[in-house]
Amino acid sequence: MTENSTVDVATAIDAAVAARQDEALALLSRLVATQSVNPLQPGIDGEQYLGGEAAANAVVDEALRELGLETEKVAVDERRPNVVGIRRGTGGGRSLAFNAHIDTVAPQSDTAWKPEVRDGRLYGLGATDMKGGHAAVWLALAAIEDLGVRLSGDVHVHSVVGEETMSHELGTTAVLRAGHRTDAVVVAEPTSSAEVPGRIFNSAAGNYLFAVTLTGRSTHWVNRPRAIRAGGEGDTIGVNAADKAVYIYQAMRQLEEQWAFSKSHPAFPPGSFIIHPGVLRADVGFPAAPYFPDRARIDYLLSFPPGERAEDVRAEVEQHIRLACAMDPWLREHPVEFEWIDTWPPSYSAPDSEFVQAALRARQGVSESDPGVPAVPGVETGSYQSDSAFYEAQGVPAIVCGPGDITCAHAPEEWVDVDAVALLARTYARLILEWCA
Ligand SMILES: [Zn+2]
Repeated sequence: MTENSTVDVATAIDAAVAARQDEALALLSRLVATQSVNPLQPGIDGEQYLGGEAAANAVVDEALRELGLETEKVAVDERRPNVVGIRRGTGGGRSLAFNAHIDTVAPQSDTAWKPEVRDGRLYGLGATDMKGGHAAVWLALAAIEDLGVRLSGDVHVHSVVGEETMSHELGTTAVLRAGHRTDAVVVAEPTSSAEVPGRIFNSAAGNYLFAVTLTGRSTHWVNRPRAIRAGGEGDTIGVNAADKAVYIYQAMRQLEEQWAFSKSHPAFPPGSFIIHPGVLRADVGFPAAPYFPDRARIDYLLSFPPGERAEDVRAEVEQHIRLACAMDPWLREHPVEFEWIDTWPPSYSAPDSEFVQAALRARQGVSESDPGVPAVPGVETGSYQSDSAFYEAQGVPAIVCGPGDITCAHAPEEWVDVDAVALLARTYARLILEWCA
């Protein structure tokens, strides 16, 4: 391609996106107006919301078919189907998927499903996280269609359920298991900010949610001197589970201090990986101070670097705590229990890989065509997990790049910048043309 023809193509893409922008906004409004609350969200009546994801995915399905994509339902739970759209290439080219989850968190206001455009933003539940991403992907595909471009590689849209509760077995992983693997994926989660829209995240830490529980021995609170001081009966009269929980807490802090040096990754600042105690509880079955608590539980959320496996991290934590317990006579005889509740794998695509470089070129191309759009500072480390991890777990290189702004995600009032939706569509269309041509 000559320099002139590159400029021509960029101009044509931007014009095609602009011509369909109102339709994308209408689609976004329709998606926001269709409640698609994840029925497994904690603290809600799931039955009340079940079926919302399916209704919103039916809107996506129809919108993709209008662009000529073949669509297919992939459902592990028939009531919560994913939609896969495929624009077939002529063959031989690299394929690319766009992933966007259709589920949202629970509403926090009574205008959640009343989309409203104000001051260049579309307000409503899920606008940022991440129906704005769906609209940007649709807009990019509409522009590609209107340009009449023949691509050799396939372009997929994976509109998935269950992301907000990490139910990837129902969502993204189910889509991959159904055989919809591509050569790369863009997850259109929120990466835009007021300063820089369309930032590109290539890495995220892994997470593990777990709990440690332990037991004590209950007695009257006045027996404390006999339980803990010289001359008393010690553990035989009472063991305060709160004291033992603090012992475990300290041991875990010690491991966390070690992680400041033992766990590192070039994409993360030193000391990024943590073992966060989120809930600490000890009582006798009800909250009452005149008793020795006989049970305790600490709920933790830890983070670990790309390149490490969740099962190894888990073994490391258990071993450290078991060694600490071996030094305490009560805990030696009354072992703590671990409950490993949920894990989210880390993700990392090397900054110099072909796909990350192509994505960066596509995004910088928009800033070159449009001096009003600030350039991105290269690839960055994401502060949150996304479905990108489940693609990378299956060997599919992934980046996260979308029009939403994480600062308003999960907030009572969610919005997406209307221009950011178009800007991302221009980025996606450039990437499709380079990657799948
Ligand atoms: Zn999200």
